Amino acid sequence: MSSSQIAAQTIRTLRRRYTKKSDMDMRTPEDTILGTLLSARTTDKQVLKIFPTFRKKFPTWKSLASASVGEIKKSLTTIGLYRSKAKAIKGLAQKIIAEYHGKVPKTMEELITLPGVGRKTASCVLAYAYHIPAIAVDTHVFRITHRLGWTKRKTPEKVEADLKHLIPVSLWIEINHTMVQFGRDICIGTKPKCWMCPIVKWCAYPKKTLRPSSFPMNNR
Ligand code: SF4
Repeated sequence: MSSSQIAAQTIRTLRRRYTKKSDMDMRTPEDTILGTLLSARTTDKQVLKIFPTFRKKFPTWKSLASASVGEIKKSLTTIGLYRSKAKAIKGLAQKIIAEYHGKVPKTMEELITLPGVGRKTASCVLAYAYHIPAIAVDTHVFRITHRLGWTKRKTPEKVEADLKHLIPVSLWIEINHTMVQFGRDICIGTKPKCWMCPIVKWCAYPKKTLRPSSFPMNNR
């Protein structure tokens, strides 16, 4: 099998096991862009806890654009970086109203011009809200694809480019949500549970943990 076929097989294997949708798959483009923006340096759990109240208070772009940064901040105090996120959200709402007639844009080029929106958030919006192929490289995707040997590059942007080259377009949307669940469940940050990994035979990581109580061992 070619490396591209192996990568595709790996993602299909994860897809069979991890069927839950992403926490940031909030159906509408509005909720997805806000939820993903808020999730930077914060757990999804923390975002989901405050999100319903936040959206009830600010249900439209107009309500966010006309609120003061202080008012927005008050709804976000349990979220990491809430001060800068409140400022970004107000700017985001203003720009979406002024330049996009109140609709979240549908291209990477337009999305990344919005305040607080980087490629990861833009990719989540494209993939989850618009079902347009995109790869959101977050901390899980970054770590796991390095361990698998799919990339050696140092920035999320470059990793995204490598993955787009390696993986068939039809599977791009599957990468983020399957790897986030796999990264929380088995291929965890500190000591991956390689002994129970469904894709171990395709993994290049040299320090696999092949028994629950073992120290990292060489590749088997
Ligand atoms: S074998 Fe270990 S390091 Fe490789 S993908 Fe599986 S859990 Fe992660």
